[in-house]
Amino acid sequence: MEFINLALFLVEAVFYFSVMTCFLHFRNKLGLGVFLTALGVMHFMETYLAAVFYIQLPFGVASPGSSILFAGKLMMILMLYMKEDAAIVRQPIYGLFLGNLLTVAIAQLVKFHHVSTLTPGQPINTGFLDEMGILMVWGTAFLYLDSIGIILLYEKLGTFLRRRIVLRFAICGAVILTFDQAGFYAGLYYLYDAPAQVFFDGWQAKLLAVGLYTMMFAVYQNVTTTRAFSSNNRNVGDVFNDLTFRERYEDLLSRSGVDVLTGVPDRARMEAEIPKALDASLRDDTPASLLIIDIDRFKSINDSFGHLKGDEVLKAVAAVLSRKTEAFGRLYRFGGEEFVIFLPSTNHDKAMAFARSVQSSFYEGVRRPDGTLLTLSIGVATSQEDGLSFNTLLAQADVRLYEAKNNGRDQVRGRYEVFQD
Ligand code: GH3
Ligand code: MG
Ligand code: MG
Repeated sequence: MEFINLALFLVEAVFYFSVMTCFLHFRNKLGLGVFLTALGVMHFMETYLAAVFYIQLPFGVASPGSSILFAGKLMMILMLYMKEDAAIVRQPIYGLFLGNLLTVAIAQLVKFHHVSTLTPGQPINTGFLDEMGILMVWGTAFLYLDSIGIILLYEKLGTFLRRRIVLRFAICGAVILTFDQAGFYAGLYYLYDAPAQVFFDGWQAKLLAVGLYTMMFAVYQNVTTTRAFSSNNRNVGDVFNDLTFRERYEDLLSRSGVDVLTGVPDRARMEAEIPKALDASLRDDTPASLLIIDIDRFKSINDSFGHLKGDEVLKAVAAVLSRKTEAFGRLYRFGGEEFVIFLPSTNHDKAMAFARSVQSSFYEGVRRPDGTLLTLSIGVATSQEDGLSFNTLLAQADVRLYEAKNNGRDQVRGRYEVFQD
């Protein structure tokens, strides 16, 4: 008997999930309203079953209303969020919340009617209306918290398990439905003195539903991501399918601000980041230094070997500079063949020594296409003596760079000395 119930439970879960997932998957063809309305309509049945319809399962007595339908609804809200964004998913969350409150209010009003029986002798069943009281409001409040909670948790888990979306799905379902069961049981206990068994039976049924939904979600995810793209060649579009809207947005942000040719942070990034970093070092009363680096006679590479060769040399220069800078500060492409390096917690002497080591690393580092030496000219400025703002430091470093150029190139210019090779 309980095994027939269990088999039916499985069939219901598969049926619910497949149909709702189809509505969600084809939302652009069918219109999102189909999915949302189906979700809303089934809420009525869910509430009714959870109030009056309980079945014996192998581990205890539970209602398909609070497991299949309620757990399913939360997982559907999460899936909608994964496919769309916060602005879309808040529509069913608010809709269910407000719709439930409206239902309770109408149910209270309806009770004042004098009702007529349609067939004499048949009793009027107002039991369901009586259920529409405080417990329904309590459940509605929890549904609202659960929906928001499941999305926040999914986002939070993204920081540790970014690409493990099936695992994230399972954890979210298990955690939020446990929270829900505890909250709902608290209400039942307060109102009806429900025994602890009610909590455990309902909890297991919800976890069973989450387990089934996770398996089906894994299949769905697998089918939809491998059909469009070959599985051993996961490309950007594929990975984008796995990310939520906010994650996709962050992904784009992290890619913008990077110079396309050299892959180092670009000028916009520089202007956003250095002033902040400089303010921080001023607050801590520590020095910070700035280097401007310009490749010597770069134009002649373009002129003699073409722009594409010039681009290759630029990439190689950026790679060497990036390696040298990594442990000490941050490298930016300022423009053309000029780079800026910001060195936090670095006084002028240390910055000069660093600049000279960058300069000399090029003697055995990058060469011109004809094999001759590629050299750099570098201007160095340090806060607070050379300025308190990014712009004044940059201007001062630039003045020194031009001194270096005028003085014969291949050298570092700072505040006191002239280093010349
Ligand atoms: P110097 O700095 O020693 O005075 O001489 P220079 O030849 O390097 O002169 P300048 O710095 O004024 O010239 C920069 C040249 O860099 C001009 C431009 O043709 C080249 N350039 C700028 N950006 C790029 C780029 O992205 N790719 C290539 N191939 N060349 C670039
Ligand atoms: Mg230049
Ligand atoms: Mg130059």
